[in-house]
Amino acid sequence: MDLFEYEARELFETHGVPVLRGITASTPEQARVAAEELGTDVVVIKAQVKTGGRGRAGGVKLARSPQEAQARAADILGMDIAGHRVRTVMVAEGADIAAEFYFSLLLDRASRGYLAMCSVEGGMDIETLARERPQALARVPVDPRRGLDQAKAEEIVAAAGFAEADRAAVASVLVRLGEVYRANDATLVEVNPLVKTRDGRIVALDGKVTLDANAAFRHPEWDRYRDEDSDDPLEVRARAKGLNYVKLDGSVGVIGNGAGLVMSTLDVVAKAGEGLPGSPRPANFLDIGGGASAEVMANGLDIIICLL
Ligand code: GDP
Ligand code: MN
Repeated sequence: MDLFEYEARELFETHGVPVLRGITASTPEQARVAAEELGTDVVVIKAQVKTGGRGRAGGVKLARSPQEAQARAADILGMDIAGHRVRTVMVAEGADIAAEFYFSLLLDRASRGYLAMCSVEGGMDIETLARERPQALARVPVDPRRGLDQAKAEEIVAAAGFAEADRAAVASVLVRLGEVYRANDATLVEVNPLVKTRDGRIVALDGKVTLDANAAFRHPEWDRYRDEDSDDPLEVRARAKGLNYVKLDGSVGVIGNGAGLVMSTLDVVAKAGEGLPGSPRPANFLDIGGGASAEVMANGLDIIICLL
Protein backbone atom coordinates (compact mmCIF):
# COMPACT_ATOMS: atom_id res chain seq x y z
CA MET A 1 0.00 0.00 0.00
CA ASP A 2 1.57 3.24 -1.18
CA LEU A 3 1.19 6.49 0.75
CA PHE A 4 0.91 10.01 -0.57
CA GLU A 5 3.91 12.25 -0.02
CA TYR A 6 2.04 14.26 2.63
CA GLU A 7 1.26 11.05 4.53
CA ALA A 8 4.90 9.92 4.33
CA ARG A 9 5.94 13.39 5.48
CA GLU A 10 3.74 13.03 8.57
CA LEU A 11 5.34 9.70 9.47
CA PHE A 12 8.78 11.26 8.99
CA GLU A 13 7.84 14.08 11.33
CA THR A 14 6.57 11.64 13.96
CA HIS A 15 9.93 9.86 13.95
CA GLY A 16 12.04 13.00 14.04
CA VAL A 17 13.13 13.00 10.39
CA PRO A 18 13.63 16.69 9.49
CA VAL A 19 11.00 17.89 7.00
CA LEU A 20 9.75 21.31 5.99
CA ARG A 21 6.30 22.48 7.04
CA GLY A 22 3.58 21.51 4.60
CA ILE A 23 -0.18 21.97 4.33
CA THR A 24 -2.47 20.15 1.91
CA ALA A 25 -5.02 21.96 -0.27
CA SER A 26 -7.63 20.76 -2.70
CA THR A 27 -8.57 24.14 -4.17
CA PRO A 28 -6.39 27.05 -5.42
CA GLU A 29 -7.99 29.26 -2.75
CA GLN A 30 -6.93 26.82 0.01
CA ALA A 31 -3.42 26.85 -1.46
CA ARG A 32 -3.30 30.64 -1.14
CA VAL A 33 -4.42 30.46 2.50
CA ALA A 34 -1.83 27.72 3.15
CA ALA A 35 0.95 29.87 1.65
CA GLU A 36 -0.14 32.79 3.86
CA GLU A 37 -0.08 30.54 6.88
CA LEU A 38 3.42 29.25 6.06
CA GLY A 39 4.54 32.84 5.57
CA THR A 40 7.88 32.01 3.91
CA ASP A 41 9.29 33.97 0.94
CA VAL A 42 9.12 30.90 -1.25
CA VAL A 43 6.68 28.02 -1.10
CA VAL A 44 6.58 24.92 -3.27
CA ILE A 45 3.33 23.55 -4.66
CA LYS A 46 3.50 19.78 -5.10
CA ALA A 47 1.01 17.47 -6.80
CA GLN A 48 -0.05 14.65 -4.47
CA VAL A 49 -0.15 11.62 -6.74
CA LYS A 50 1.19 8.12 -6.15
CA THR A 51 3.70 8.18 -8.97
CA GLY A 52 7.22 9.50 -9.44
CA GLY A 53 8.50 12.10 -11.88
CA ARG A 54 6.10 14.79 -10.70
CA GLY A 55 8.80 17.42 -11.09
CA ARG A 56 9.41 16.59 -14.74
CA ALA A 57 5.67 16.45 -15.44
CA GLY A 58 5.21 20.02 -14.14
CA GLY A 59 3.64 18.90 -10.87
CA VAL A 60 6.18 20.66 -8.60
CA LYS A 61 6.31 24.46 -8.83
CA LEU A 62 7.82 27.25 -6.75
CA ALA A 63 5.76 30.32 -5.82
CA ARG A 64 6.94 33.62 -4.33
CA SER A 65 3.64 34.96 -3.00
CA PRO A 66 0.29 33.60 -1.83
CA GLN A 67 -1.25 34.86 -5.10
CA GLU A 68 1.32 32.97 -7.10
CA ALA A 69 0.75 29.88 -4.93
CA GLN A 70 -2.94 30.09 -5.81
CA ALA A 71 -2.13 30.37 -9.54
CA ARG A 72 0.34 27.47 -9.50
CA ALA A 73 -2.13 25.31 -7.55
CA ALA A 74 -4.75 26.13 -10.19
CA ASP A 75 -2.29 24.89 -12.85
CA ILE A 76 -1.48 21.67 -11.00
CA LEU A 77 -4.90 20.66 -9.59
CA GLY A 78 -6.70 18.56 -12.16
CA MET A 79 -3.51 17.68 -14.04
CA ASP A 80 -3.04 14.11 -15.20
CA ILE A 81 0.37 12.74 -14.21
CA ALA A 82 1.05 9.28 -15.63
CA GLY A 83 -2.65 8.44 -15.44
CA HIS A 84 -3.10 9.89 -11.94
CA ARG A 85 -5.50 12.81 -11.57
CA VAL A 86 -4.23 15.48 -9.15
CA ARG A 87 -6.93 16.11 -6.53
CA THR A 88 -4.69 17.49 -3.79
CA VAL A 89 -1.54 19.57 -3.64
CA MET A 90 0.82 20.08 -0.76
CA VAL A 91 1.97 23.64 -0.14
CA ALA A 92 5.33 23.43 1.59
CA GLU A 93 8.04 25.79 2.75
CA GLY A 94 10.58 26.32 -0.01
CA ALA A 95 14.03 24.89 0.58
CA ASP A 96 17.24 26.63 -0.41
CA ILE A 97 19.06 23.60 -1.76
CA ALA A 98 22.86 23.23 -1.65
CA ALA A 99 23.00 19.52 -2.57
CA GLU A 100 20.56 16.70 -3.38
CA PHE A 101 21.11 13.13 -2.16
CA TYR A 102 19.25 9.84 -2.50
CA PHE A 103 18.32 7.29 0.17
CA SER A 104 16.05 4.27 0.24
CA LEU A 105 15.52 1.28 2.48
CA LEU A 106 13.54 -1.59 1.04
CA LEU A 107 12.57 -5.19 1.52
CA ASP A 108 14.85 -7.39 -0.58
CA ARG A 109 13.06 -10.71 -0.94
CA ALA A 110 15.99 -12.29 -2.78
CA SER A 111 18.34 -11.87 0.19
CA ARG A 112 15.57 -12.25 2.78
CA GLY A 113 16.74 -8.99 4.24
CA TYR A 114 16.62 -5.26 3.76
CA LEU A 115 18.65 -3.29 1.31
CA ALA A 116 19.74 0.31 1.79
CA MET A 117 20.59 2.35 -1.28
CA CYS A 118 22.24 5.71 -1.01
CA SER A 119 23.88 8.25 -3.28
CA VAL A 120 25.33 11.74 -3.09
CA GLU A 121 23.87 12.24 -6.57
CA GLY A 122 20.19 12.53 -5.69
CA GLY A 123 17.32 14.43 -7.23
CA MET A 124 17.40 12.66 -10.56
CA ASP A 125 15.59 9.53 -11.56
CA ILE A 126 17.19 6.71 -9.57
CA GLU A 127 16.66 4.07 -12.26
CA THR A 128 18.69 6.26 -14.64
CA LEU A 129 21.43 6.69 -12.05
CA ALA A 130 21.53 2.94 -11.34
CA ARG A 131 21.84 2.23 -15.06
CA GLU A 132 24.26 4.93 -16.13
CA ARG A 133 26.45 5.40 -13.07
CA PRO A 134 25.96 2.28 -10.90
CA GLN A 135 29.17 3.03 -9.00
CA ALA A 136 27.52 6.23 -7.68
CA LEU A 137 24.76 4.25 -5.95
CA ALA A 138 25.89 2.44 -2.80
CA ARG A 139 23.97 -0.75 -2.00
CA VAL A 140 24.31 -1.95 1.57
CA PRO A 141 22.47 -5.02 2.93
CA VAL A 142 20.76 -4.48 6.28
CA ASP A 143 20.04 -7.37 8.64
CA PRO A 144 16.36 -7.12 9.67
CA ARG A 145 17.17 -8.51 13.11
CA ARG A 146 19.58 -5.65 13.73
CA GLY A 147 17.81 -2.95 11.74
CA LEU A 148 19.34 0.29 10.58
CA ASP A 149 21.34 1.18 13.67
CA GLN A 150 23.98 3.87 14.11
CA ALA A 151 26.87 1.65 12.99
CA LYS A 152 24.98 0.58 9.85
CA ALA A 153 24.05 4.19 9.07
CA GLU A 154 27.71 5.18 9.31
CA GLU A 155 28.63 2.32 6.98
CA ILE A 156 26.01 3.51 4.46
CA VAL A 157 27.11 7.15 4.41
CA ALA A 158 30.74 6.11 4.06
CA ALA A 159 29.89 3.75 1.18
CA ALA A 160 27.92 6.50 -0.55
CA GLY A 161 30.93 8.81 -0.31
CA PHE A 162 29.47 11.65 1.73
CA ALA A 163 31.89 14.41 2.69
CA GLU A 164 33.35 13.78 6.14
CA ALA A 165 31.65 16.93 7.46
CA ASP A 166 28.14 15.74 6.50
CA ARG A 167 28.40 12.12 7.61
CA ALA A 168 27.21 12.40 11.21
CA ALA A 169 24.17 14.53 10.35
CA VAL A 170 23.12 12.31 7.44
CA ALA A 171 23.68 9.11 9.44
CA SER A 172 21.39 10.31 12.22
CA VAL A 173 18.64 11.03 9.66
CA LEU A 174 19.10 7.54 8.20
CA VAL A 175 18.67 5.94 11.63
CA ARG A 176 15.36 7.80 11.98
CA LEU A 177 14.25 6.73 8.51
CA GLY A 178 15.07 3.16 9.57
CA GLU A 179 12.78 3.71 12.53
CA VAL A 180 10.00 4.92 10.18
CA TYR A 181 10.47 1.69 8.23
CA ARG A 182 10.46 -0.63 11.25
CA ALA A 183 7.71 1.01 13.30
CA ASN A 184 5.32 1.18 10.36
CA ASP A 185 5.91 -2.25 8.82
CA ALA A 186 7.07 -0.62 5.59
CA THR A 187 8.53 -2.43 2.60
CA LEU A 188 9.93 0.80 1.19
CA VAL A 189 11.03 4.15 2.56
CA GLU A 190 12.56 6.34 -0.12
CA VAL A 191 13.75 9.93 0.05
CA ASN A 192 14.67 11.58 -3.23
CA PRO A 193 15.93 14.15 -2.73
CA LEU A 194 17.33 14.17 0.75
CA VAL A 195 18.88 17.63 0.70
CA LYS A 196 21.48 19.74 2.39
CA THR A 197 20.18 23.30 2.63
CA ARG A 198 22.38 26.37 2.23
CA ASP A 199 22.18 26.88 5.99
CA GLY A 200 23.57 23.36 6.48
CA ARG A 201 20.51 21.34 7.51
CA ILE A 202 19.76 17.84 6.23
CA VAL A 203 16.08 17.68 5.22
CA ALA A 204 13.84 15.07 3.56
CA LEU A 205 12.31 17.05 0.70
CA ASP A 206 10.29 14.19 -0.77
CA GLY A 207 9.05 10.94 0.71
CA LYS A 208 7.75 7.69 -0.61
CA VAL A 209 6.54 5.02 1.80
CA THR A 210 5.03 1.65 0.94
CA LEU A 211 3.38 -0.25 3.79
CA ASP A 212 3.21 -4.04 3.92
CA ALA A 213 -0.50 -4.83 3.50
CA ASN A 214 0.15 -8.17 5.26
CA ALA A 215 0.69 -6.20 8.48
CA ALA A 216 -2.63 -4.31 8.22
CA PHE A 217 -4.16 -6.50 10.95
CA ARG A 218 -1.96 -4.83 13.56
CA HIS A 219 -2.37 -1.29 12.27
CA PRO A 220 -5.95 -0.12 12.77
CA GLU A 221 -4.63 3.42 12.16
CA TRP A 222 -4.02 2.50 8.49
CA ASP A 223 -7.74 2.89 7.84
CA ARG A 224 -7.07 6.56 7.27
CA TYR A 225 -4.79 5.71 4.34
CA ARG A 226 -7.65 4.08 2.45
CA ASP A 227 -7.68 5.77 -0.90
CA GLU A 228 -10.53 4.61 -3.09
CA ASP A 229 -9.68 7.15 -5.80
CA SER A 230 -6.43 5.44 -6.73
CA ASP A 231 -7.69 1.90 -6.14
CA ASP A 232 -9.15 -0.06 -8.98
CA PRO A 233 -12.95 0.42 -8.94
CA LEU A 234 -13.58 -3.32 -9.19
CA GLU A 235 -11.27 -3.98 -6.25
CA VAL A 236 -13.12 -1.36 -4.22
CA ARG A 237 -16.44 -3.00 -5.10
CA ALA A 238 -15.10 -6.46 -4.27
CA ARG A 239 -13.72 -5.24 -0.92
CA ALA A 240 -17.12 -3.79 -0.07
CA LYS A 241 -18.57 -7.27 -0.58
CA GLY A 242 -15.86 -8.82 1.58
CA LEU A 243 -14.22 -10.60 -1.36
CA ASN A 244 -10.51 -11.28 -1.68
CA TYR A 245 -10.10 -10.02 -5.26
CA VAL A 246 -7.15 -8.69 -7.25
CA LYS A 247 -7.58 -7.44 -10.79
CA LEU A 248 -5.07 -8.73 -13.34
CA ASP A 249 -4.65 -7.74 -16.96
CA GLY A 250 -5.86 -10.87 -18.80
CA SER A 251 -9.25 -12.02 -20.07
CA VAL A 252 -10.03 -15.31 -18.30
CA GLY A 253 -12.09 -14.90 -15.12
CA VAL A 254 -11.05 -17.15 -12.24
CA ILE A 255 -13.00 -18.02 -9.07
CA GLY A 256 -11.59 -20.51 -6.61
CA ASN A 257 -11.87 -21.78 -3.06
CA GLY A 258 -8.69 -21.07 -1.14
CA ALA A 259 -5.76 -18.83 -2.03
CA GLY A 260 -3.42 -21.72 -2.88
CA LEU A 261 -5.85 -23.28 -5.31
CA VAL A 262 -6.54 -19.92 -6.95
CA MET A 263 -2.83 -19.18 -7.34
CA SER A 264 -2.20 -22.59 -8.91
CA THR A 265 -5.18 -22.04 -11.20
CA LEU A 266 -3.75 -18.72 -12.34
CA ASP A 267 -0.49 -20.46 -13.21
CA VAL A 268 -2.27 -23.24 -15.07
CA VAL A 269 -4.48 -20.82 -17.02
CA ALA A 270 -1.47 -18.68 -17.96
CA LYS A 271 0.49 -21.76 -19.03
CA ALA A 272 -2.43 -23.16 -21.08
CA GLY A 273 -2.92 -19.77 -22.72
CA GLU A 274 0.67 -19.58 -23.95
CA GLY A 275 -0.01 -21.72 -27.01
CA LEU A 276 -3.36 -20.16 -27.94
CA PRO A 277 -4.11 -17.27 -30.30
CA GLY A 278 -3.80 -13.97 -28.38
CA SER A 279 -2.20 -15.84 -25.44
CA PRO A 280 -5.16 -15.38 -23.06
CA ARG A 281 -4.21 -14.81 -19.42
CA PRO A 282 -6.11 -14.71 -16.11
CA ALA A 283 -8.25 -11.59 -15.61
CA ASN A 284 -8.19 -11.74 -11.84
CA PHE A 285 -7.45 -13.47 -8.57
CA LEU A 286 -10.61 -14.25 -6.60
CA ASP A 287 -10.63 -16.47 -3.54
CA ILE A 288 -14.16 -17.01 -2.20
CA GLY A 289 -12.92 -19.32 0.55
CA GLY A 290 -14.02 -22.79 1.57
CA GLY A 291 -17.73 -23.46 2.13
CA ALA A 292 -18.77 -20.32 0.22
CA SER A 293 -22.52 -19.68 0.27
CA ALA A 294 -24.66 -19.11 -2.82
CA GLU A 295 -24.59 -15.41 -1.99
CA VAL A 296 -20.78 -15.26 -1.87
CA MET A 297 -20.63 -17.16 -5.18
CA ALA A 298 -23.14 -14.76 -6.73
CA ASN A 299 -21.13 -11.76 -5.48
CA GLY A 300 -17.99 -13.30 -6.96
CA LEU A 301 -19.67 -13.84 -10.32
CA ASP A 302 -20.99 -10.31 -10.21
CA ILE A 303 -17.45 -8.94 -9.93
CA ILE A 304 -16.03 -11.31 -12.56
CA ILE A 305 -18.62 -10.51 -15.23
CA CYS A 306 -18.14 -6.77 -14.73
CA LEU A 307 -15.04 -7.23 -16.83
CA LEU A 308 -16.87 -8.72 -19.79
P1 GDP B 1 9.32 14.05 -7.85
O1 GDP B 1 9.75 14.66 -9.14
O2 GDP B 1 7.96 13.42 -7.95
O3 GDP B 1 10.31 13.11 -7.29
O4 GDP B 1 9.14 15.27 -6.81
P2 GDP B 1 10.17 15.91 -5.75
O5 GDP B 1 9.42 16.24 -4.53
O6 GDP B 1 11.37 15.06 -5.56
O7 GDP B 1 10.58 17.29 -6.44
C1 GDP B 1 11.30 17.30 -7.65
C2 GDP B 1 12.43 18.32 -7.60
O8 GDP B 1 11.90 19.63 -7.34
C3 GDP B 1 13.45 18.08 -6.50
O9 GDP B 1 14.45 17.16 -6.88
C4 GDP B 1 14.00 19.47 -6.29
O10 GDP B 1 15.07 19.71 -7.20
C5 GDP B 1 12.85 20.37 -6.63
N1 GDP B 1 12.25 20.88 -5.39
C6 GDP B 1 11.33 20.28 -4.61
N2 GDP B 1 11.06 21.02 -3.52
C7 GDP B 1 11.83 22.14 -3.62
C8 GDP B 1 12.05 23.29 -2.80
O11 GDP B 1 11.48 23.47 -1.75
N3 GDP B 1 12.95 24.23 -3.26
C9 GDP B 1 13.61 24.07 -4.43
N4 GDP B 1 14.46 25.03 -4.81
N5 GDP B 1 13.45 23.00 -5.22
C10 GDP B 1 12.59 22.04 -4.82
MN1 MN C 1 11.42 12.95 -5.69
